Amino acid sequence: MRGAVLYAPGDVRVEERQDPRILTPTDAIIRLSATCICGSDLWPYRGLEAVDGPAPMGHEYAGIVQEVGSQVRNIRPGQFVVGSFFASDNTCEICQAGYQTSCVHREPIGAGGAQAQSLHVPLADGTLVATPDLPPDDLIPSLLAASDVLGTGWFGAVAAEAGPHKTVAVVGDGAVGLLAVLAASQLGAERIIAMSRHQPRQRLATEFGATDIVTERGDAGVARIKELTGGLGAHSVIEAVGTQESMLQAIGSTRPGGHVGYVGVAHGVELPGDELFFSHVHLHGGPAPVRRFLPELIDLIWNRRIDPGKVFDLSLPLEQAGEGYQAMDERRAIKTLLRP
Ligand SMILES: [Zn+2]
Repeated sequence: MRGAVLYAPGDVRVEERQDPRILTPTDAIIRLSATCICGSDLWPYRGLEAVDGPAPMGHEYAGIVQEVGSQVRNIRPGQFVVGSFFASDNTCEICQAGYQTSCVHREPIGAGGAQAQSLHVPLADGTLVATPDLPPDDLIPSLLAASDVLGTGWFGAVAAEAGPHKTVAVVGDGAVGLLAVLAASQLGAERIIAMSRHQPRQRLATEFGATDIVTERGDAGVARIKELTGGLGAHSVIEAVGTQESMLQAIGSTRPGGHVGYVGVAHGVELPGDELFFSHVHLHGGPAPVRRFLPELIDLIWNRRIDPGKVFDLSLPLEQAGEGYQAMDERRAIKTLLRP
């Protein structure tokens, strides 16, 4: 099969790779209908995360089951399925509590690389969720978005306790931040402030339900949020970047007693204890337990209540993955869909 491999910063190649196969009786093999490039893939692509030899890339996937192991009970060949970037048994105490990305049996999906034609998925019964039927082509981008960016934005909004009568602010205008806006809107937030200085992203944020746009960032961004909220700060703030600046911007924008949902993968974040102590905010986040939300998200997409696939503003054949990375790196594209 063909698959994308990162050799060094800036050097993504699509090459012939070994077909995945069933390794344990609980595995499944999926033929991917679509895959994509994640904002988190840009960290190693930019050399901000070590690249240790050629690395198969990608962890977002949706497609048709080709084969299952002998102990797989609920997932069948021929089904269209979506799964999260961590495989989970969905039965242990941690999974039952809704934290499948910390499952005691969790396994990362990235090892085999989902930017490919086929994918090996461990713990198929716990990890994969099937759609009611084979989806029409126009729903595939949205179903793919559920695999990570939508589920992650949704968890950010839930962790920040977005809901009715709440003012929500979103730090970060990548795909996750934009879908956190959509999530906050679906969860019934009264006011949603998107922090973005890029016009196409501001437009999409507004389409997804943002009521206000703030272009300032850092301390000026915090000041602007306070100004918009009677000097108090937002009830709920979603942090979808993962840098020191964005975390402090999120905490500073939250009112005492409010909640920060942080879902940007942290890189070099060190929180000053005194600032945290006096902020009086709740912090909750981490790798989103997307599996918790998948049945509900698939249902919303299937019934055309939400259209998260709009975050894909570039669609390329898998063979052009390198161009997809470059476009996202240069912020010419919000998110690139790859057609295997
Ligand atoms: Zn588990």
